[in-house]
Amino acid sequence: MPKMQIACPRCRQPILAEVRQVFDLAQDPRAKELLLSGAVNIAQCPHCGFQGPLATPLVYHDPDKELLLVYVPQELGMNRDQQEKVIGPLLNQIINHLPPEKRKAYLLQPQTMLTYERLIERILEADGITKEMLQAQEQRLRLIQRLMSAAADARAEIIRQEDALIDENFFAMLAQLLELHLAQGDRLGAQQLLEVQKAVLEHATYGQQLRREEQEVKAALESLQNLGSNATLDQLVDLVVQAPNDTRLQALVRLARPAINYEFFAKVSERIEKAQGDEKERLSRLRERLLELTQEIDKEVQARLQAVRDLLEQVLAAENLEQAVIEVLPAVDDLFLTVVEQELQAARQKGDLQRSARLNQVLDILQKVAAPPPQVALLEALVNTPDLQQRQQLLERNAQLVDQNLAETLARLVAEYQQRGEVPQAFKNHLSTVHQEVVRFLASKKG
Ligand SMILES: [Zn+2]
Repeated sequence: MPKMQIACPRCRQPILAEVRQVFDLAQDPRAKELLLSGAVNIAQCPHCGFQGPLATPLVYHDPDKELLLVYVPQELGMNRDQQEKVIGPLLNQIINHLPPEKRKAYLLQPQTMLTYERLIERILEADGITKEMLQAQEQRLRLIQRLMSAAADARAEIIRQEDALIDENFFAMLAQLLELHLAQGDRLGAQQLLEVQKAVLEHATYGQQLRREEQEVKAALESLQNLGSNATLDQLVDLVVQAPNDTRLQALVRLARPAINYEFFAKVSERIEKAQGDEKERLSRLRERLLELTQEIDKEVQARLQAVRDLLEQVLAAENLEQAVIEVLPAVDDLFLTVVEQELQAARQKGDLQRSARLNQVLDILQKVAAPPPQVALLEALVNTPDLQQRQQLLERNAQLVDQNLAETLARLVAEYQQRGEVPQAFKNHLSTVHQEVVRFLASKKG
């Protein structure tokens, strides 16, 4: 970014600052994120110490959403002519960058945003995020902060008063904040957030519902596990028709969906025919509900599959494959890998060499980035090597990886496993031996 001379927003003395005036997604896909993050156009004044946003005219362009926005801060006191002189070249820069066939009518009518707030709102609106949604998010954030600082016995009452704000979004925000605090190593904050989470699960209506659901899923899973691997279809039908509530029923259908097939429904129908009165009625309603649930689940699976396929095609079409794969990493799961394998097979069968090569590249990149860091790999190898001499060789071969950090990680593992009753004593002893060996090796390396 070029440095420009501007007047300090506080003391008005001239200062140098990095100023960005064009946010064009056609030229820079990260421009939107950058603008929304508030991390650009910050002034730092060496004269008065001011640090904060600086006022600059700017232009925002999103070609996919046909959005062309202009913002000139009112505090700059520019008249119409002056504004046009500044904005004109910025708009030209955007239009000149577009190939002629993409120069559409919306480019002739840039929308003027009167405040910076409005500019941000307009960008978010185009993503389907309304002002009301943003306000609700702000309220949720404030509520979390209030709960964090509140005394433990005051939390229940606050939660009861703010019950309406505590929903799916609230829990998502809580999880995000927790991740953030952990990543920053803020243990106290993370601890407070965990306490808040515990309190809302206990006292909020939505939290109670979540806990009930969790319990029902757990109960459903246990009942299926109890059937064992030799379970008959009749046993599964028993379990499903005896489900004590709809939440349990949903959990059972989700977990056992592949077994809820034509044969399963035939058995339910048989039972309906044999049943009498109220029970007959109840079973008929149950069959209806089962049909509904299985269709719902199948639709969800289809939609997820389609989304994964679309994502994969996007990746395959990218110019820089490696970068594209890394960008979608958060979305890579078992389903994604399954789809890649399926597409690879299909491409091979069709003899589409280009496509299969590219799909193979995707798998290679994924494997490369998924490989554990060398130190973690060494740790695993050490723990999995029973022979003392071989462990010594491993340490010597990887001497450059053996450092204080490795020793500390092992010490933490030892401490963690000591507390776990289900771990055999022999393994705990083994871990502790490996730890001592690493410490000794480290000492000899230094000495
Ligand atoms: Zn200043």
